[in-house]
Amino acid sequence: MEKTIAVIRGDGIGPEIVDQAIRVLDKVAEKFNHTFIYGDVDMGGNAIDKWGEPLPEAMLQKCLASDSVLLGAVGGPKWDGVPAAKRPEKGLLALRAGMGLFSNNRPAKLWPQLAGACPLKPSIVEKGIDFIVVRELIGGVYFGEHSTAEVDGEKKATDIMAYSEHEIERIGRIGFETARKRRNKLTSVDKANVLDTSRLWRAVMHRLAAEYPDVEYSDMLVDNCAMQIVKDPSQFDVIVTENLFGDILSDEASMITGSIGMIPSSSLGETSCGLYEPIHGSAPDIAGQNKANPIGTILSAAMMCRYSFDMPAEADAIEAAVQKALDAGFRTGDMMAEGCQLVSCSEMGDAILSFL
Ligand code: NAD
Repeated sequence: MEKTIAVIRGDGIGPEIVDQAIRVLDKVAEKFNHTFIYGDVDMGGNAIDKWGEPLPEAMLQKCLASDSVLLGAVGGPKWDGVPAAKRPEKGLLALRAGMGLFSNNRPAKLWPQLAGACPLKPSIVEKGIDFIVVRELIGGVYFGEHSTAEVDGEKKATDIMAYSEHEIERIGRIGFETARKRRNKLTSVDKANVLDTSRLWRAVMHRLAAEYPDVEYSDMLVDNCAMQIVKDPSQFDVIVTENLFGDILSDEASMITGSIGMIPSSSLGETSCGLYEPIHGSAPDIAGQNKANPIGTILSAAMMCRYSFDMPAEADAIEAAVQKALDAGFRTGDMMAEGCQLVSCSEMGDAILSFL
């Protein structure tokens, strides 16, 4: 097969980690007889420096014309002073909206080799952690109207949170369908005791639940969910929730799986062209030092093979190679443990390639 991949190296550690993922994809192409054609796309801080904006229209078009998009990370202190409308993160929001990516899927899985890095008690860890957070990505308060006005002699800021039924229904369906491919359990998270958007969310989810009688469905308030994720994460299979809650809960989930550097994600819309990226940011504190963990990006490339390219054997091969590199004791600094071998970003890439 021949596939085109728009590659956004981004800022900070982005270029280092994406380079390792591309080495892995190249090896997969060689082994399985595919051709991956890469096209560089500027987005984030580097695009601001080069083009004066975080996602020039031509760059978005390049992504839309590709079979899929691989992203490292964007942002950093260099662009902290840039006006809000042109910040690096705006490029990411514009990309998600421009590609119509309404569903962000983040696995929260504790690899047994990294159990020691999990901050939870062993009695909780031994029950296993393996769930997915399905987060609505292009609605809610992040995309509502934002304003700051002078009212009665002081500043007052407002952010509007809005959801319509069709936005809830399409993400709800992804939640149910994902549960069907896993352990058939779906937890819908909202704040229906306070918010109208959540009450509508719950009503739509209940309507959908009737269509999926084989999926064990439950509602949970977001504050309770934040507690349950650290109290007993084994109870979860698939969590579906709106944008803001999903942003926070999926970061919480990433912390209990050992290292933020290990976790991939996919963002999908109506078409098979998805956006694949690790969940972490550009890690400016270690950028340019060849220290970053590239596994989140490499596993994102595996998700790309599985979900956008329909290449399950290739995805399995990448995941198995990561597993073997961890089994062999290779660790980047973020997940270093006693008795393991500390490796750089590119050496982790070497190790994974050697097992492919
Ligand atoms: P971050 O995820 O970049 O870093 C948090 C901590 O985790 C840092 O100590 C960092 O060194 C470490 N870390 C992250 N990824 C790692 C990896 N692969 N290997 C080893 N260690 C890793 O979060 P932050 O510091 O809050 O944000 C830094 C910048 O990234 C900000 O400008 C932020 O806006 C941006 N950001 C971008 C994205 C994205 O591009 N999707 C997501 C989150 C944050």
